[in-house]
Amino acid sequence: MAFKESIAEIHLPSLAKNLRAVEKRIGSRKIIAVVKADAYGHGAIAVAKALIQTGRKIAKLAVASLDEAILLRKAGIQTPILLLTGSPLDRIAETVRYQITPALFDENTLAAFARYTKKKGCSIAVHLKIDTGMGRLGIAPETAIPFIQKIKDAGILLEGVFSHFSEADLADISFARAQLKKIKTVQTALRKIGFSPNFHLANSAAIVHFPDAYLDAVRPGLMLYGYSPLQVPNAISLHPIMTVKTRVIALKYVPSGTPISYGRTFITKRETRVAVVAIGYADGYPRTLSNCGEMIAHGTRVPVIGRVCMDMTMLDVTAAPSLSVGDWVIVMGQEGGQSIWADALAKKANTIPYEILCGMKQIPKVYITK
Ligand SMILES: *Cc1c(COP(=O)(O)O)cnc(C)c1O
Repeated sequence: MAFKESIAEIHLPSLAKNLRAVEKRIGSRKIIAVVKADAYGHGAIAVAKALIQTGRKIAKLAVASLDEAILLRKAGIQTPILLLTGSPLDRIAETVRYQITPALFDENTLAAFARYTKKKGCSIAVHLKIDTGMGRLGIAPETAIPFIQKIKDAGILLEGVFSHFSEADLADISFARAQLKKIKTVQTALRKIGFSPNFHLANSAAIVHFPDAYLDAVRPGLMLYGYSPLQVPNAISLHPIMTVKTRVIALKYVPSGTPISYGRTFITKRETRVAVVAIGYADGYPRTLSNCGEMIAHGTRVPVIGRVCMDMTMLDVTAAPSLSVGDWVIVMGQEGGQSIWADALAKKANTIPYEILCGMKQIPKVYITK
Protein backbone atom coordinates (compact mmCIF):
# COMPACT_ATOMS: atom_id res chain seq x y z
CA MET A 1 0.00 0.00 0.00
CA ALA A 2 3.06 2.22 -0.12
CA PHE A 3 1.74 4.56 -2.81
CA LYS A 4 -1.95 4.38 -2.12
CA GLU A 5 -2.36 7.46 -0.01
CA SER A 6 -3.58 11.00 0.22
CA ILE A 7 -2.70 13.64 2.79
CA ALA A 8 -4.18 16.92 3.96
CA GLU A 9 -1.67 19.56 5.02
CA ILE A 10 -3.11 22.07 7.47
CA HIS A 11 -1.26 25.37 7.51
CA LEU A 12 -1.62 26.69 11.06
CA PRO A 13 0.07 30.09 10.50
CA SER A 14 -2.67 30.86 7.96
CA LEU A 15 -5.29 29.86 10.53
CA ALA A 16 -3.78 32.44 12.89
CA LYS A 17 -3.86 35.04 10.11
CA ASN A 18 -7.52 34.35 9.44
CA LEU A 19 -8.28 34.73 13.13
CA ARG A 20 -6.45 38.07 13.17
CA ALA A 21 -8.48 39.19 10.15
CA VAL A 22 -11.71 38.41 12.03
CA GLU A 23 -10.40 40.20 15.10
CA LYS A 24 -9.53 43.28 13.09
CA ARG A 25 -13.05 43.40 11.69
CA ILE A 26 -14.91 42.99 14.99
CA GLY A 27 -12.80 45.06 17.37
CA SER A 28 -13.24 44.28 21.05
CA ARG A 29 -16.13 41.83 20.72
CA LYS A 30 -15.67 38.25 21.83
CA ILE A 31 -14.89 35.39 19.46
CA ILE A 32 -16.67 32.05 19.68
CA ALA A 33 -14.61 29.87 17.31
CA VAL A 34 -16.73 27.20 15.64
CA VAL A 35 -14.84 23.90 15.47
CA LYS A 36 -17.77 21.53 14.89
CA ALA A 37 -17.51 18.65 12.40
CA ASP A 38 -13.89 18.11 13.46
CA ALA A 39 -13.15 21.76 12.69
CA TYR A 40 -14.78 21.52 9.24
CA GLY A 41 -12.58 18.52 8.50
CA HIS A 42 -9.32 20.16 9.63
CA GLY A 43 -8.98 18.32 12.97
CA ALA A 44 -10.67 19.94 15.98
CA ILE A 45 -8.01 19.30 18.60
CA ALA A 46 -5.10 20.70 16.56
CA VAL A 47 -7.17 23.63 15.29
CA ALA A 48 -8.50 24.50 18.75
CA LYS A 49 -5.02 24.34 20.28
CA ALA A 50 -3.57 26.50 17.50
CA LEU A 51 -6.35 29.09 17.90
CA ILE A 52 -5.80 29.24 21.65
CA GLN A 53 -2.04 29.57 21.19
CA THR A 54 -2.36 32.65 18.99
CA GLY A 55 -2.70 34.62 22.20
CA ARG A 56 -5.93 36.23 21.11
CA LYS A 57 -8.48 35.37 23.75
CA ILE A 58 -10.89 32.84 22.27
CA ALA A 59 -13.94 33.37 24.49
CA LYS A 60 -15.35 30.00 23.55
CA LEU A 61 -15.12 27.08 21.18
CA ALA A 62 -18.38 25.86 19.66
CA VAL A 63 -19.11 22.24 18.76
CA ALA A 64 -22.15 20.30 17.59
CA SER A 65 -22.02 17.20 19.76
CA LEU A 66 -21.19 16.34 23.36
CA ASP A 67 -18.64 13.80 22.16
CA GLU A 68 -16.78 16.48 20.21
CA ALA A 69 -16.75 18.62 23.36
CA ILE A 70 -15.45 15.78 25.53
CA LEU A 71 -12.73 15.01 22.98
CA LEU A 72 -11.45 18.59 23.32
CA ARG A 73 -11.54 18.38 27.13
CA LYS A 74 -9.66 15.06 27.09
CA ALA A 75 -7.01 16.73 24.92
CA GLY A 76 -6.44 19.18 27.77
CA ILE A 77 -8.34 22.14 26.33
CA GLN A 78 -9.83 24.24 29.14
CA THR A 79 -11.40 27.03 27.07
CA PRO A 80 -15.17 27.26 27.63
CA ILE A 81 -17.08 25.15 25.10
CA LEU A 82 -20.52 25.98 23.75
CA LEU A 83 -22.51 22.91 22.74
CA LEU A 84 -24.68 24.25 19.90
CA THR A 85 -27.07 21.28 19.86
CA GLY A 86 -27.75 21.32 23.59
CA SER A 87 -27.10 18.63 26.18
CA PRO A 88 -28.61 15.20 25.47
CA LEU A 89 -31.17 14.64 28.27
CA ASP A 90 -29.56 11.35 29.29
CA ARG A 91 -26.05 12.83 29.45
CA ILE A 92 -26.48 15.86 31.71
CA ALA A 93 -23.98 14.39 34.18
CA GLU A 94 -21.24 14.43 31.51
CA THR A 95 -22.19 17.92 30.36
CA VAL A 96 -21.70 19.15 33.92
CA ARG A 97 -18.62 17.05 34.69
CA TYR A 98 -16.76 18.29 31.60
CA GLN A 99 -17.95 21.86 32.18
CA ILE A 100 -19.62 22.19 28.80
CA THR A 101 -21.98 25.13 28.24
CA PRO A 102 -25.06 23.81 26.44
CA ALA A 103 -27.46 25.69 24.24
CA LEU A 104 -30.94 25.54 25.79
CA PHE A 105 -34.11 25.62 23.72
CA ASP A 106 -36.82 23.59 25.46
CA GLU A 107 -38.63 23.36 28.76
CA ASN A 108 -38.00 19.64 29.34
CA THR A 109 -34.27 20.17 29.29
CA LEU A 110 -34.57 23.18 31.58
CA ALA A 111 -36.58 21.07 34.06
CA ALA A 112 -34.01 18.27 33.85
CA PHE A 113 -31.14 20.75 34.46
CA ALA A 114 -33.03 22.15 37.46
CA ARG A 115 -33.55 18.67 38.96
CA TYR A 116 -29.94 17.66 38.34
CA THR A 117 -28.30 20.78 39.77
CA LYS A 118 -30.57 20.71 42.83
CA LYS A 119 -29.84 17.05 43.53
CA LYS A 120 -26.07 17.43 43.07
CA GLY A 121 -25.71 20.91 44.50
CA CYS A 122 -23.84 21.98 41.37
CA SER A 123 -24.42 24.76 38.85
CA ILE A 124 -24.83 24.92 35.12
CA ALA A 125 -24.52 27.84 32.72
CA VAL A 126 -26.51 27.89 29.49
CA HIS A 127 -26.94 29.94 26.32
CA LEU A 128 -30.60 30.31 25.40
CA LYS A 129 -31.26 29.77 21.72
CA ILE A 130 -33.96 31.79 20.01
CA ASP A 131 -35.37 30.91 16.59
CA THR A 132 -35.55 34.19 14.72
CA GLY A 133 -36.11 32.66 11.29
CA MET A 134 -33.88 29.63 10.78
CA GLY A 135 -36.65 27.18 11.66
CA ARG A 136 -34.20 24.89 13.41
CA LEU A 137 -33.32 25.09 17.11
CA GLY A 138 -34.69 27.75 19.42
CA ILE A 139 -37.70 29.05 21.27
CA ALA A 140 -40.04 31.63 19.74
CA PRO A 141 -38.83 35.19 20.46
CA GLU A 142 -42.21 36.09 22.03
CA THR A 143 -41.73 33.39 24.68
CA ALA A 144 -38.19 34.44 25.58
CA ILE A 145 -38.89 36.67 28.57
CA PRO A 146 -41.11 34.20 30.50
CA PHE A 147 -38.67 31.39 29.58
CA ILE A 148 -35.76 33.40 30.93
CA GLN A 149 -37.71 33.99 34.14
CA LYS A 150 -38.05 30.20 34.45
CA ILE A 151 -34.31 29.77 33.88
CA LYS A 152 -33.66 32.25 36.68
CA ASP A 153 -36.19 30.61 39.02
CA ALA A 154 -34.56 27.23 38.40
CA GLY A 155 -31.21 28.56 39.58
CA ILE A 156 -29.63 28.03 36.14
CA LEU A 157 -27.12 30.66 35.04
CA LEU A 158 -28.12 32.43 31.82
CA GLU A 159 -24.74 33.31 30.36
CA GLY A 160 -25.77 33.97 26.77
CA VAL A 161 -28.63 34.39 24.35
CA PHE A 162 -28.18 33.61 20.67
CA SER A 163 -29.77 32.92 17.33
CA HIS A 164 -28.62 31.83 13.87
CA PHE A 165 -28.95 33.42 10.42
CA SER A 166 -30.51 31.46 7.60
CA GLU A 167 -29.33 33.59 4.68
CA ALA A 168 -26.78 36.15 5.81
CA ASP A 169 -24.67 35.03 2.84
CA LEU A 170 -27.01 36.77 0.37
CA ALA A 171 -26.25 40.24 -0.93
CA ASP A 172 -29.81 41.17 0.10
CA ILE A 173 -29.73 41.16 3.90
CA SER A 174 -33.36 42.16 4.47
CA PHE A 175 -34.31 38.82 6.06
CA ALA A 176 -31.12 38.87 8.15
CA ARG A 177 -32.13 42.35 9.31
CA ALA A 178 -35.52 41.03 10.38
CA GLN A 179 -33.79 38.26 12.34
CA LEU A 180 -31.50 40.79 14.01
CA LYS A 181 -34.48 42.92 14.95
CA LYS A 182 -36.16 39.99 16.70
CA ILE A 183 -33.17 39.16 18.86
CA LYS A 184 -32.61 42.84 19.66
CA THR A 185 -36.18 43.11 20.91
CA VAL A 186 -35.37 40.37 23.42
CA GLN A 187 -32.14 42.13 24.36
CA THR A 188 -33.95 45.41 25.03
CA ALA A 189 -36.69 43.75 27.09
CA LEU A 190 -34.07 41.92 29.15
CA ARG A 191 -32.09 45.07 29.83
CA LYS A 192 -35.24 46.68 31.17
CA ILE A 193 -35.48 43.99 33.82
CA GLY A 194 -31.80 44.23 34.64
CA PHE A 195 -30.40 41.23 32.68
CA SER A 196 -27.50 41.55 30.28
CA PRO A 197 -26.23 38.16 29.16
CA ASN A 198 -23.95 37.96 26.11
CA PHE A 199 -25.89 38.20 22.86
CA HIS A 200 -24.45 36.62 19.73
CA LEU A 201 -25.72 36.04 16.22
CA ALA A 202 -23.09 36.61 13.51
CA ASN A 203 -21.68 33.70 11.50
CA SER A 204 -18.92 34.21 8.90
CA ALA A 205 -21.30 35.74 6.36
CA ALA A 206 -22.51 38.37 8.83
CA ILE A 207 -18.95 39.08 9.96
CA VAL A 208 -18.05 39.76 6.33
CA HIS A 209 -20.84 42.23 5.51
CA PHE A 210 -23.27 42.86 8.37
CA PRO A 211 -21.53 44.75 11.21
CA ASP A 212 -24.86 45.69 12.86
CA ALA A 213 -25.18 42.03 13.82
CA TYR A 214 -21.90 41.76 15.75
CA LEU A 215 -23.63 42.28 19.16
CA ASP A 216 -21.43 41.07 22.08
CA ALA A 217 -19.74 38.12 20.37
CA VAL A 218 -19.40 36.57 16.91
CA ARG A 219 -19.28 32.92 15.82
CA PRO A 220 -16.92 32.49 12.86
CA GLY A 221 -16.57 29.04 11.33
CA LEU A 222 -15.81 28.90 7.60
CA MET A 223 -13.73 32.07 7.51
CA LEU A 224 -11.25 30.68 10.06
CA TYR A 225 -10.55 27.95 7.52
CA GLY A 226 -9.91 30.54 4.84
CA TYR A 227 -13.11 30.97 2.85
CA SER A 228 -15.75 33.64 2.65
CA PRO A 229 -19.37 32.47 2.26
CA LEU A 230 -19.92 35.32 -0.20
CA GLN A 231 -17.94 37.60 -2.46
CA VAL A 232 -18.16 41.27 -1.53
CA PRO A 233 -16.13 44.34 -2.53
CA ASN A 234 -14.52 45.05 0.85
CA ALA A 235 -13.81 41.39 1.48
CA ILE A 236 -11.70 40.27 4.41
CA SER A 237 -8.40 38.81 3.25
CA LEU A 238 -8.50 35.09 4.07
CA HIS A 239 -6.16 32.18 3.34
CA PRO A 240 -7.36 28.61 2.78
CA ILE A 241 -5.51 26.46 5.30
CA MET A 242 -6.05 22.95 3.92
CA THR A 243 -4.09 21.55 0.99
CA VAL A 244 -4.97 18.03 -0.18
CA LYS A 245 -2.51 15.93 -2.15
CA THR A 246 -2.74 12.45 -3.53
CA ARG A 247 -0.21 10.13 -5.10
CA VAL A 248 -0.01 8.67 -8.56
CA ILE A 249 -0.56 4.89 -8.29
CA ALA A 250 -0.21 4.03 -11.97
CA LEU A 251 0.54 5.68 -15.33
CA LYS A 252 -0.02 4.42 -18.83
CA TYR A 253 -0.43 5.51 -22.43
CA VAL A 254 -3.68 4.33 -23.99
CA PRO A 255 -4.70 4.65 -27.67
CA SER A 256 -7.51 6.80 -29.01
CA GLY A 257 -10.94 5.20 -28.41
CA THR A 258 -10.13 3.75 -24.97
CA PRO A 259 -12.99 3.83 -22.44
CA ILE A 260 -12.08 5.12 -18.96
CA SER A 261 -13.77 4.09 -15.68
CA TYR A 262 -17.29 2.91 -14.80
CA GLY A 263 -20.01 3.35 -17.37
CA ARG A 264 -17.55 4.29 -20.16
CA THR A 265 -18.62 7.93 -19.78
CA PHE A 266 -15.25 9.01 -21.17
CA ILE A 267 -13.63 7.66 -24.35
CA THR A 268 -10.17 8.97 -25.26
CA LYS A 269 -10.08 11.01 -28.48
CA ARG A 270 -6.33 10.70 -28.97
CA GLU A 271 -3.42 8.79 -27.56
CA THR A 272 -3.66 9.76 -23.88
CA ARG A 273 -1.38 9.49 -20.87
CA VAL A 274 -3.63 8.35 -18.04
CA ALA A 275 -2.71 8.67 -14.35
CA VAL A 276 -4.57 6.75 -11.68
CA VAL A 277 -4.49 8.69 -8.40
CA ALA A 278 -5.26 7.47 -4.88
CA ILE A 279 -8.30 9.52 -4.00
CA GLY A 280 -11.99 8.89 -4.58
CA TYR A 281 -15.40 9.66 -3.19
CA ALA A 282 -14.70 7.56 -0.06
CA ASP A 283 -12.00 10.13 0.73
CA GLY A 284 -14.32 13.05 0.15
CA TYR A 285 -13.52 13.80 -3.49
CA PRO A 286 -17.07 14.24 -4.84
CA ARG A 287 -18.30 11.82 -7.48
CA THR A 288 -20.04 14.77 -9.11
CA LEU A 289 -16.56 15.85 -10.27
CA SER A 290 -16.57 12.91 -12.71
CA ASN A 291 -15.49 14.23 -16.14
CA CYS A 292 -15.38 17.84 -14.91
CA GLY A 293 -12.91 18.07 -12.02
CA GLU A 294 -9.29 19.12 -12.35
CA MET A 295 -6.13 18.49 -10.35
CA ILE A 296 -2.66 20.01 -10.57
CA ALA A 297 0.18 17.76 -11.72
CA HIS A 298 3.68 19.29 -11.63
CA GLY A 299 2.14 22.75 -11.86
CA THR A 300 -0.16 21.88 -14.79
CA ARG A 301 -3.96 21.68 -14.57
CA VAL A 302 -5.08 18.24 -15.67
CA PRO A 303 -8.67 17.04 -16.15
CA VAL A 304 -10.46 14.24 -14.35
CA ILE A 305 -11.55 11.71 -16.98
CA GLY A 306 -14.34 9.20 -16.49
CA ARG A 307 -16.21 8.62 -13.27
CA VAL A 308 -14.60 9.25 -9.89
CA CYS A 309 -14.34 5.83 -8.19
CA MET A 310 -14.53 4.99 -4.49
CA ASP A 311 -10.75 5.11 -3.87
CA MET A 312 -9.28 6.17 -7.20
CA THR A 313 -9.67 8.78 -9.91
CA MET A 314 -8.23 8.93 -13.43
CA LEU A 315 -6.57 12.01 -14.91
CA ASP A 316 -5.48 12.91 -18.42
CA VAL A 317 -1.86 13.84 -17.73
CA THR A 318 -0.71 14.01 -21.35
CA ALA A 319 0.24 17.65 -20.62
CA ALA A 320 2.45 16.64 -17.67
CA PRO A 321 4.99 14.30 -19.28
CA SER A 322 7.42 14.42 -16.35
CA LEU A 323 4.89 12.97 -13.89
CA SER A 324 5.97 9.64 -12.40
CA VAL A 325 4.34 6.93 -10.28
CA GLY A 326 4.61 7.95 -6.62
CA ASP A 327 4.53 11.69 -7.34
CA TRP A 328 2.10 13.95 -5.53
CA VAL A 329 -0.76 15.58 -7.39
CA ILE A 330 -2.60 18.58 -5.90
CA VAL A 331 -6.30 17.87 -5.37
CA MET A 332 -6.98 21.10 -3.51
CA GLY A 333 -4.34 23.78 -3.20
CA GLN A 334 -1.83 25.56 -5.41
CA GLU A 335 1.31 24.78 -7.37
CA GLY A 336 3.22 26.51 -10.14
CA GLY A 337 0.84 29.46 -10.35
CA GLN A 338 -2.22 27.22 -10.58
CA SER A 339 -4.75 26.94 -7.79
CA ILE A 340 -7.86 24.88 -7.08
CA TRP A 341 -9.47 25.64 -3.72
CA ALA A 342 -12.59 24.30 -2.00
CA ASP A 343 -14.80 27.08 -3.38
CA ALA A 344 -13.82 26.18 -6.96
CA LEU A 345 -14.35 22.46 -6.30
CA ALA A 346 -17.72 23.24 -4.69
CA LYS A 347 -18.88 25.25 -7.66
CA LYS A 348 -18.10 22.42 -10.07
CA ALA A 349 -19.57 19.80 -7.74
CA ASN A 350 -22.74 21.87 -7.27
CA THR A 351 -22.27 22.22 -3.51
CA ILE A 352 -20.72 24.62 -0.97
CA PRO A 353 -17.11 24.81 0.28
CA TYR A 354 -18.35 23.70 3.73
CA GLU A 355 -19.34 20.29 2.35
CA ILE A 356 -16.09 19.90 0.40
CA LEU A 357 -13.99 20.61 3.51
CA CYS A 358 -16.06 18.42 5.86
CA GLY A 359 -15.97 15.64 3.28
CA MET A 360 -12.16 15.50 3.47
CA LYS A 361 -12.14 14.89 7.22
CA GLN A 362 -10.95 11.31 7.08
CA ILE A 363 -7.81 12.09 5.05
CA PRO A 364 -4.71 11.81 7.27
CA LYS A 365 -3.53 15.26 8.41
CA VAL A 366 -0.11 16.83 8.60
CA TYR A 367 0.09 20.09 10.59
CA ILE A 368 2.43 22.76 9.33
CA THR A 369 3.44 25.10 12.12
CA LYS A 370 5.60 27.62 10.28
C1 LIG B 1 -21.91 26.39 11.97
C2 LIG B 1 -22.42 27.48 12.77
C3 LIG B 1 -21.74 28.72 12.80
C4 LIG B 1 -20.58 29.06 11.91
O1 LIG B 1 -21.03 29.31 10.61
P1 LIG B 1 -20.03 29.77 9.44
O2 LIG B 1 -20.91 30.07 8.31
O3 LIG B 1 -19.15 28.57 9.18
O4 LIG B 1 -19.25 30.91 9.96
C5 LIG B 1 -22.21 29.67 13.68
N1 LIG B 1 -23.29 29.44 14.46
C6 LIG B 1 -23.97 28.27 14.43
C7 LIG B 1 -25.15 28.08 15.31
C8 LIG B 1 -23.56 27.27 13.58
O5 LIG B 1 -24.25 26.13 13.53
